[in-house]
Amino acid sequence: MPISSHMIIFDRTYEIKDISPLQSSEGILGQSAYRDGVIYLDKSVDLSLSLRTLWHEAVHVAQQDLSTAADEAEARWIALFVHNLLAANPWLAECYLDELDTVPFDVESE
Ligand SMILES: [Zn+2]
Repeated sequence: MPISSHMIIFDRTYEIKDISPLQSSEGILGQSAYRDGVIYLDKSVDLSLSLRTLWHEAVHVAQQDLSTAADEAEARWIALFVHNLLAANPWLAECYLDELDTVPFDVESE
């Protein structure tokens, strides 16, 4: 399955666009543009790296949404954690696909 052209985070849809060739040539794999609702991603690298980068940028969006400062270490750790958790336990994703129509998120209940 290819990476989608959009991603929903906290009920807001973000476009997933290719990162510019200049940024790609500089080794930048992803960037989140919170105000524009866009996540830029280098999809030319292998899928595992693209997915980890997507998680990383999604965490940055969440950090912005929760009005916290962008925290590189936190984004890196959470992205790696979620990616490895799903890769090692694919049944988790299958449960969401099979059993849930929507995944509600309530910040206040956390
Ligand atoms: Zn980052």
